[in-house]
Amino acid sequence: MNMPSDKARALPLGALYIDGEWRNAEDGGTIAVINPSTEEQLATLSAATANDVAAAVVAARAQVDGGPWSRLSGAERGKLLWRLADLVDANRENLAFLEAIDIGRPYFEPYTFEIPLVADTFRHFAGWADKIVGQTFNLPDFAGRPRHSYTLRQPLGVIAAITPWNAPTMIASWKLATALAAGNTVVLKPAEDASLSTIRLVQLAEEAGFPPGVINLVTGTGSIAGDALVRHAGIDKISFTGSPEVGRTISAIASQSFKKVSLELGGKSPQIMRQDADLDLAIGGAAISFFANQGQTCACGSRLFVHRSLANEVTQRLVEAARAIRVGDPFAPDTQMGTLINAAQMRRVTGYVEKGIDEGAKLIAGGSRLAQPGFFFQPTIFLGSNDMTIAREEIFGPVATIIPFEDDEEALRLANDTNYGLTSVVWTRDLAAANHYARSLRAGSVWINAWGPPHPALPWLGVKTSGLGEELGLSGLLANTAEKTVSMVA
Ligand code: NAD
Repeated sequence: MNMPSDKARALPLGALYIDGEWRNAEDGGTIAVINPSTEEQLATLSAATANDVAAAVVAARAQVDGGPWSRLSGAERGKLLWRLADLVDANRENLAFLEAIDIGRPYFEPYTFEIPLVADTFRHFAGWADKIVGQTFNLPDFAGRPRHSYTLRQPLGVIAAITPWNAPTMIASWKLATALAAGNTVVLKPAEDASLSTIRLVQLAEEAGFPPGVINLVTGTGSIAGDALVRHAGIDKISFTGSPEVGRTISAIASQSFKKVSLELGGKSPQIMRQDADLDLAIGGAAISFFANQGQTCACGSRLFVHRSLANEVTQRLVEAARAIRVGDPFAPDTQMGTLINAAQMRRVTGYVEKGIDEGAKLIAGGSRLAQPGFFFQPTIFLGSNDMTIAREEIFGPVATIIPFEDDEEALRLANDTNYGLTSVVWTRDLAAANHYARSLRAGSVWINAWGPPHPALPWLGVKTSGLGEELGLSGLLANTAEKTVSMVA
């Protein structure tokens, strides 16, 4: 894997972007950006105040309430999104560098997967921008006069887009692409631990030619900038991706003013390895699902249900796979796993490992922090049961639990016995079994014989504690629009 050139290692300005201007927070407040691989300060970010947030919302409102953006055709919006996609491709190394250094993940991951998907996402929704249509109705005459009824599908207005730190560029692209294709404007609030690549993405959007005020960026804390944004009366929809705890708070605030919300939250996703699984495929795929991005993916398949007849072999092979993973510097060409995001996440992961041991789970791989600077943690596997805390709560780290099962009925019951419902994986060669699981698993998505990131054409959603509302796909696009009924009586 080629590493980023010196030019691609440029850090962006840590400023706010409001109404087409890059500026500091009104009170000059900043947040230190820590490099999780070294624990040293890397940069500073502006910490937006409530007034900064209000200025961003006013700018976004002006564009959507009769401003030039509101008069742009869908095709013109599509052209801007397409141009942004081309700029993402041209800046792939820099975006991947910023994401890797900011969150401590191996450079090859965003370079190979997320950044190309970011460009694909903008292109996919560029294609939809001029295809958003209403409906027409053949209704009886009204009061003896011909009636023509139809619906207009219009943008919602200003979207507050709040993103987490674990896949910051990709998730920002999901929210920007769907909101902008549908004609909305956006105030974007990235996570305080991972804003660098998002700042760069907004710089690229400026270069692509989006008018001032259409995309606004307010970096800063959740408790000040995020809170001010979700409470602002000028926001029409909050599109949030993050933890269930913050999602609950946001949902309660939004309900006071009946703002629309979409909540993409956590997961505790099951993988089911049937007796007939192709083990080479399944073991490799399961390990990627456990440890990609240090297990800090919402879709992490952290509960692996293995048919009892395979349990010994699968356990042994997964332990070997975990021990062979090279953990270290995100920019070393042979690194496969980087760091956790910060000290708090290290305490969280360590705490869950201790809890697993206390509750009687058998630690069969990893379990410790590396004795070096940086928040490096070993790939960790337990043999346990579905009622243990490590199998019930989202750890959001490189910790998986293997749980043997006897038959399909038990596997399905255990897989669905969770508060979450984001994604799920079934490893099988049996089409009838695959079909049965696809219909019966309570989750927003089901992978059969693979695990990977969401594709922009497919709706992405969670059930139960994993969320509310769709993102991506046609339904994710239409979730950024409102349908209005018009009845014309001639
Ligand atoms: P988090 O909830 O701590 O923070 C997410 C964002 O919310 C950040 O930008 C933060 O600043 C902001 N925020 C915090 N408090 C706020 C408040 N009171 N008001 C408004 N905004 C506030 O989540 P995180 O730790 O950044 O991310 C990890 C979580 O995200 C995990 O649970 C993970 O599963 C979930 N996640 C879900 C998906 C999905 O698509 N379902 C994708 C990625 C991550």
